[in-house]
Amino acid sequence: MIVGIDLGTTNSLVGVYDSGFVTLIADEAGERLTPSVVHYPAEGEVLVGRTAVRMRTLAPKRTVYSAKRFIGGRVGEEEGRFDYPVVGQPGNPVRFRIGDVMVSPEEVSAQVLRKLKMDAERALGRPVEKAVVTVPAYFNDAQRNATKKAGELAGLEVVRILNEPTAAALAYGLDRLQDRARVAVYDLGGGTFDISILELNQGVFQVLATNGDTRLGGDDIDAALVEYLAEQSGVTAREERERRLADPSVRARLREAAVDAKHRLSEAEQVDVSLPFLEGSQSQVFVITRELLEKLARPILERTRIRCARALADAGLRADELQEVVLVGGSTRMPVVRALVAEMFGRTPNTTQNPDEAVANGATLQAAILDGALREVVLLDVTPLSLGIETFGGLMNVIVPRNTTIPFKAGEMFTNAVAGQRSMLIRVLQGEREKADDNWELGRFEIPFEPLPKGQARVGVQFEIDANGILKVLARDMNTGSEKVVEMASAVDVSDEAVEKMLEDSLEHAFEDMNARIYTEARLKAEEMLPSVEKALALVGDRLSAENIHAIRSAMEDVRVAMHSNAAQQLKKAAAILDDCTQVLATLLVESAMDAVSQNAGGVGQ
Ligand code: AMP
Repeated sequence: MIVGIDLGTTNSLVGVYDSGFVTLIADEAGERLTPSVVHYPAEGEVLVGRTAVRMRTLAPKRTVYSAKRFIGGRVGEEEGRFDYPVVGQPGNPVRFRIGDVMVSPEEVSAQVLRKLKMDAERALGRPVEKAVVTVPAYFNDAQRNATKKAGELAGLEVVRILNEPTAAALAYGLDRLQDRARVAVYDLGGGTFDISILELNQGVFQVLATNGDTRLGGDDIDAALVEYLAEQSGVTAREERERRLADPSVRARLREAAVDAKHRLSEAEQVDVSLPFLEGSQSQVFVITRELLEKLARPILERTRIRCARALADAGLRADELQEVVLVGGSTRMPVVRALVAEMFGRTPNTTQNPDEAVANGATLQAAILDGALREVVLLDVTPLSLGIETFGGLMNVIVPRNTTIPFKAGEMFTNAVAGQRSMLIRVLQGEREKADDNWELGRFEIPFEPLPKGQARVGVQFEIDANGILKVLARDMNTGSEKVVEMASAVDVSDEAVEKMLEDSLEHAFEDMNARIYTEARLKAEEMLPSVEKALALVGDRLSAENIHAIRSAMEDVRVAMHSNAAQQLKKAAAILDDCTQVLATLLVESAMDAVSQNAGGVGQ
């Protein structure tokens, strides 16, 4: 039995497929949504889910939420954004300090997964050992690996890591659309926004483009409403208001009231909110209208517009070329979100599925497929960023381009840059920049080989990405057959924003990056050419006209000048001119070699 799990930033769910239906499992309290919140008491048992949420107000420093934001080595969240202490220098794994104990994000997620596993076992009356777990489409290898590890810690074998939008599309039954149908998955949760454009290709989903904002969601709307309520509280002095709000338990209780009002306003036009804590012991009741909430939410929601536009542009599509737009994430229950999506995409979004449960439903369908309980639908995911290795001159050599459908295997042959080199360093890189150092290093290892003249060693490098997005790199010395296979470690520190930033940076630096590549390639070529031209001149220079020699010498000088001045285009041009005017030299070299051969041959014959 394989269960499907939506391991969310805010809430998580588990489902099973039985007799043709997906059933999402309720816990002992009858709730299907389990808040992804874990409370670590000073003594006694760890609390997970709703009971932990209650403790968030009383013991905010011992209650971890949003651990998913940190999974796989994410750093860079600003300090103080979370009520619990987050520890971690860039480059080191993130830990939460709970009293005297350090807890990793994987361990927190494992607690959530363990509860889901137990709930499923209780409901099914049998052990559950395998799961499909979903992750955002932009998660990198480290984040996928860490999610797998969280599963292992919880006693679950993660048989497939599935992209969330792909799961949602499956839940909405979009695999039944006509071939080549394109769909958008608009996912607005508590803390994150994701937009994905998928294409159905002979029953197979492919991710054409993804975009999003890792700091945009229902939480921002809550914060705006909290701010508004605090302003209305009668505590007029701003400083005094801020002082009271600085108390985590006051803030948490105010937030609870705001979230509750927001949820009710998805159905009702207006609601009462009672705030018994801001002004001494007096209780206050406010009336909040949907119109007011929408006014507060609108500027926040507007930020999804540019993301959608970019995803469409990346996919090379116009909104009217989409067959369907589906909604995912609790925040899409808000009528104003639905209206905005309708306006942006020029079509009414599909709301036939429960937006909180679509991803879990899809994960469960995928689990059923893997279990053989459901007809085979192949789901294909893509690499969010390019993968490759560093090559001569410190350049990135892409082996798996960004947006490649996985599972995937590809290889390339490399050689030694220096004569007598005894090993080759394989630096595995992820990113979109031309210079190796501007990309992220996922790992490195050395492959030894027999010392040989420059360019004679042959090392085959193969990248293999399995269906979970886990990368294995194989390097083989083709001359001796000796090889090494390395699975990329998960201890890489790259954040979700960094993925986004990588794409932005690569666009922003496209011009200078291109120049750097042109320059480096031209320089490598020039470094090889200059000494060989010198050598050729020494051998056959006497057969050239003075004019020819002058042209070659001056072209060589131009190459040297361009090399020193770092001028890419100039160097490329100078190298091309040198190449041109040494053609005659090359011909002479060949002739002289032929002469030597025929003289030798003659010698033998005589
Ligand atoms: P998710 O991350 O998909 O679980 O979504 C959680 C977010 O959805 C939180 O910000 C919730 O406040 C929000 N949410 C859940 N239900 C509703 C609702 N009925 N109306 C508005 N927002 C909701």
